[in-house]
Amino acid sequence: MLILAIESSCDDTAAAVIEPENRILSSVISSQDEIHVRFGGIVPELASRRHIEMIRPVVHQALAQAGVKLEDIDLIAATQGPGLVGSLLVGFTFAKALALVNNLPCVGVDHMAAHLLSCLLEAQQPSFPYTALIVSGGNTSLFAVEDPLTFTRLGRTRDDAAGEAFDKVAKLLDLGYPGGPEISRLATSGNPHTFAFPRARLSKESLDFSFSGLKTSVAACVHKLKKTDRTLPIPDICASFQEAVVDVLVDKTLAACARTGYRSVVIGGGVAANPRLRQALSNRCTEEGLQLFMPSPALCTDNAAMIGIAGYYQFLSGRFVDADSDAYSRSPLN
Ligand code: ATP
Ligand code: FE
Repeated sequence: MLILAIESSCDDTAAAVIEPENRILSSVISSQDEIHVRFGGIVPELASRRHIEMIRPVVHQALAQAGVKLEDIDLIAATQGPGLVGSLLVGFTFAKALALVNNLPCVGVDHMAAHLLSCLLEAQQPSFPYTALIVSGGNTSLFAVEDPLTFTRLGRTRDDAAGEAFDKVAKLLDLGYPGGPEISRLATSGNPHTFAFPRARLSKESLDFSFSGLKTSVAACVHKLKKTDRTLPIPDICASFQEAVVDVLVDKTLAACARTGYRSVVIGGGVAANPRLRQALSNRCTEEGLQLFMPSPALCTDNAAMIGIAGYYQFLSGRFVDADSDAYSRSPLN
């Protein structure tokens, strides 16, 4: 079975061809970073216009790279939500139209569910059930994943998402957008103990997160340092900030595992590409005898292959979309 998958929830136009036996035949991503970088964040109107320009060439390229034709495709999967509605509508409508014209079944995929299942595209796969941390630009949540269609949320951020905190701190330090990759790169040459930034652990029982206090604390620190004539110790700020985020993410994930009792742990979402988070979580899971499954960094950040695998399970359960199905901005999972 061949699946053509399309993702356009935010600022990247992506298409992939996969075989559900977990082989990625192609995965094409057209990034819009260069359009949004000068605004320090995504401009929704510009994002949807760019999706309109890129959707056809990206889908074409995904088919060509996979060495297949549209006639070979058995199922079309597209992100239905959550995200920027103007962006979602481009990919979702394109998918529905393509399915209609070619008489193909079409499924709408929840972007969060796709992040939760992206590890199923790797050679080493978890078995169900598992505990999952989704940590991205718009979400920071913990889930109990019973099967590919059943997710119970255990906790979420009460304010900023971890990726959002990375992006905001990067903006504060003039490091461009998106900030996560640049902060993690600079952090490798910094000392994580230079600044004692706060770790919001909330109550012991809570599996919720809060990152807005941390962001404010970094801003106050930068403001104070700027008043002195010293050049900003940017790598030290990045390393100390990153460590504060990682500490909380790791602690709460381990607490979630204790709550579910499941022995497999999965991560997903853009921040899951962060090398320090991967290392710290890996160490703690080894100590606790838990099995950790991490998608490769390219499958953590937004991609269409994960939409394909999540779409496959929608297909198996017979959940199809029709011409009237609409995109949605908020995930029912969250
Ligand atoms: P969501 O999935 O919540 O809708 P999104 O789709 O916009 O968010 P993803 O691609 O899943 O985003 O994640 C992007 C986020 O991941 C950005 O905030 C980015 O800064 C962050 N990120 C990417 N790489 C890294 C990294 N190496 N370290 C930390 N953060 C990172
Ligand atoms: Fe995402």
